[in-house]
Amino acid sequence: MEELSARLAALSPSATLAMSQKSQELKAQGFDVINLSVGEPDFNTPDHIKTAAKQAIDDNFSFYTAVPGYMSLRNAISAKLKRENHLNFTPQQIVVGNGAKQEVCNVILAIVDKGDEVIIPTPAWVSYFEMVKLAEGVNVALPAGIDQNFKITGDQLESAITDKTKAIILCSPSNPTGAVYSKEELADLVRVLKKHPRVMVIADEIYEHINYIGQHYSIAEFPEMENRVVIINGVSKAYAMTGWRIGYMAGPTWVAKAVSKLQGQYTSGPSSIAQKAAEAAYNGSQDCVSLMRQAFEDRRNLIVSLIKEIPGFQISVPDGAFYVFPKVDQLFGKKYGDRVINDANDLAMYFLEEGLVASVSGVAFGDPNCIRFSYATSSENIREAMRRVKECVEKLK
Ligand code: PMP
Ligand code: GLU
Repeated sequence: MEELSARLAALSPSATLAMSQKSQELKAQGFDVINLSVGEPDFNTPDHIKTAAKQAIDDNFSFYTAVPGYMSLRNAISAKLKRENHLNFTPQQIVVGNGAKQEVCNVILAIVDKGDEVIIPTPAWVSYFEMVKLAEGVNVALPAGIDQNFKITGDQLESAITDKTKAIILCSPSNPTGAVYSKEELADLVRVLKKHPRVMVIADEIYEHINYIGQHYSIAEFPEMENRVVIINGVSKAYAMTGWRIGYMAGPTWVAKAVSKLQGQYTSGPSSIAQKAAEAAYNGSQDCVSLMRQAFEDRRNLIVSLIKEIPGFQISVPDGAFYVFPKVDQLFGKKYGDRVINDANDLAMYFLEEGLVASVSGVAFGDPNCIRFSYATSSENIREAMRRVKECVEKLK
């Protein structure tokens, strides 16, 4: 008899990974699918990072590492936080794990107790809700629609805070919307957070460098937020290293200690070779980061111009990350033959099966009126995918 734990029975699978897998299966069957579902850079890892990894193998970096990661890597991250973000985090305040994903989950498990509320401005990345569920916390979705460029205001935040609020998860630049909070917008949130000193901020800054407004501002930079922010970041997006699985948290020492304790019983430190590669990424030339950022910006401009030509699609131009999140509810209720498009799930499936374009429905991100396309792919793929999507939309009556 199958007897899953209640914890696992309640957990939803990752919608982003599920859609990507479906698109890979169709490809393997010979269908010419364009995959705009999963968000990962299509670039190869830069050569100097690959060289450092090869060297690490030859130099026998093959033993267990310290649980929170090599000290040399944590020093490199500490220097990065100082250099790029004007933040002082000692290596003891940093824990490196198996991707930013593990570190978000670790931090939630470390600070959220049964019944604690976690405020999640939505639309939000699919995994936050599930991680909070794993910790037996309560998700408090705080909706910010397209009319407010998918960003919450201080007043909205204030209305969501209760005496059970433990944390807010703030992702900027945002997955799935591409929204970027300016310093002024963050200051408005800080104005409210100052009044509620128990509320922690988990600041997911994994898309920090994929930002088209010139500058990234971290909520941790406000002096009022000292000791209350846990930054999440890593090498996946900035250095095209998704498969290497290196991410980190930087926050108050008590959180880092707890996360390290959890990691010590659960996974130990991440791969030694990948850690040495990440060290080279942080210590080496940053030219690769700006080259990739520029390419993403060109693609953003391309996909935005093409989406504007699609009837029934409404967009807020994304300022960062590599996603567009059009509002598509005007198409709900329309038909193609016997196929009725009732919601965003139906639309994403229609684009996949009829247009061979994989996207992700907004439902899993907490916004059922939208759909997400990742444009971390070639201009050629973007043009062809949007041509197919437009054709699919034009066939709906
Ligand atoms: N946070 C956000 C918002 C993301 O989109 C991703 C990408 N999956 C992650 C965290 C995790 O990144 P990784 O585990 O590859 O470092
Ligand atoms: N962050 C990426 C996405 O949203 C990777 C997949 C995942 O881990 O969710 O597509």
